[in-house]
Amino acid sequence: MKLLLLGGTAEGSGLARLLAGRPQFQATLSLAGRTERPATNPLLQRTGGFGGVIGLCSYLFENKIDVLIDATHPYAAQMSRNAAMASRRLSLPLLALRRPPWQAQAGDRWQTVADAAAAAEALGTAPRRVFLAMGRLEVAAFAAAPQHDYLLRSVDRPGPLPLPRLRIVTARGPFAEAEEEQLLRQERIEVIVSKNSGGTATYGKIAAARRLGLPVILLQRPILPEVESVATPAAAIRWLDTHHAADARRGV
Ligand code: NAP
Repeated sequence: MKLLLLGGTAEGSGLARLLAGRPQFQATLSLAGRTERPATNPLLQRTGGFGGVIGLCSYLFENKIDVLIDATHPYAAQMSRNAAMASRRLSLPLLALRRPPWQAQAGDRWQTVADAAAAAEALGTAPRRVFLAMGRLEVAAFAAAPQHDYLLRSVDRPGPLPLPRLRIVTARGPFAEAEEEQLLRQERIEVIVSKNSGGTATYGKIAAARRLGLPVILLQRPILPEVESVATPAAAIRWLDTHHAADARRGV
């Protein structure tokens, strides 16, 4: 069975590792190419966009892909939409590997906003020390609120950004709660801006913020297409095993 695994997440890498030990699946991992040095992966790998839905359909057809797996980031909505459309057009089975969002607990001081521009506005007019724990792609929106001191954490060092009071730390998760608490204290952070990514790898800052009583501004999750989905790499393997067994019985 030939699989195309759309990755870029810890879950995508986890599934790649599980697939590598199963010769009945011939899988290729596809990455957007957003990070300069992606995590190592044991599968065949391709990098870069397909050229929209049409390009994705051509790739799936030319490479005789049997099953498409969407393990992209919950905020990578365009790729998920393209995957759902291509699956419908080609009648190709699609499984999404989706992390449930984090849920607020007692002591959390969360405010959910529509996007990065709304987050910049929600910071208010008085200067604050802000931790932008959200990668570098949406940071330009904070140029609208240049009065704040920003600390940005991203995997790669970004190019020039239009923020006068910006410092950058480059680091790759996972980030433990104790480490995050130390960073927040050391940098005297007053407010965090984050995506509601879900999962454990980047939850440390949310738990540390709760412990320190800090407010967190969360960017709302985009609406994703409704497709069959599971929450873990192990569940995706079970789904694939069932699918594979059914195809084998039908002689596909
Ligand atoms: P996006 O807006 O959904 O995708 C934009 C385009 O990038 C897609 O239309 C596709 O190009 C290409 N693309 C995305 N994922 C791909 C994949 N796995 N393989 C091949 N091409 C892919 O996603 P994004 O621009 O990457 O990011 C949107 C949000 O997700 C940002 O907030 C970002 O921080 C977050 N995020 C993304 C990743 C990631 O690995 N992509 C990881 C962590 C966080 P074509 O239309 O040309 O096919």
